[in-house]
Amino acid sequence: MNFRCECGHRIHDNTDYLPYKGYFLADQDQDDLMDEIDDAIEKSGPTPRDKEEAAMRIRSLITRLFKSAYQCSNCGNLFMDLGPAGLEMFRGVDPVNKNLLRSALGEQWRGHVYGEWKDILPEWQTSHGILYNETNVSCPSGESAGNGHYSDWEALERDYYQLFDELKNRNAIRYSQLEKNGTLIHSWSLPK
Ligand SMILES: [Zn+2]
Repeated sequence: MNFRCECGHRIHDNTDYLPYKGYFLADQDQDDLMDEIDDAIEKSGPTPRDKEEAAMRIRSLITRLFKSAYQCSNCGNLFMDLGPAGLEMFRGVDPVNKNLLRSALGEQWRGHVYGEWKDILPEWQTSHGILYNETNVSCPSGESAGNGHYSDWEALERDYYQLFDELKNRNAIRYSQLEKNGTLIHSWSLPK
């Protein structure tokens, strides 16, 4: 889904780990959720099926009780998704903190790094190489590191490894990958 803020910025909800999306839980609902979690641990039966059913009950309750919220990354307006009642918009007071819905862990949240290169450009893309820094740590090294567009593979490769090293040293990533023409050149995941 996507919708447009009054400032003209379009807000998309089409992927995971969005830095501008969060959830609200009413205090009136919190005890019910905690009780369901306690019951799942203490009272569910011993079989894998019992465990799975208990986990599904928690997930279903979470889906029912949590309201989605979005923040416009352009102007900072906050939206609450009230389901059938639609979206409710709240304007902030200047200067607006535009990172309200980021992880409670701040810069310690583990995010992702993606680098991608294509010799042949798809129609919707304007540059051959893109580097995404999807963490809460902004551009830790050189000015081109993070969310950059590239017309030179060597520059993308160099910046990717530089960004990867810096963010890995700061424990800020859970997954990182570099692709060239659909071939995986490098990938790294946080050991479980
Ligand atoms: Zn806006």
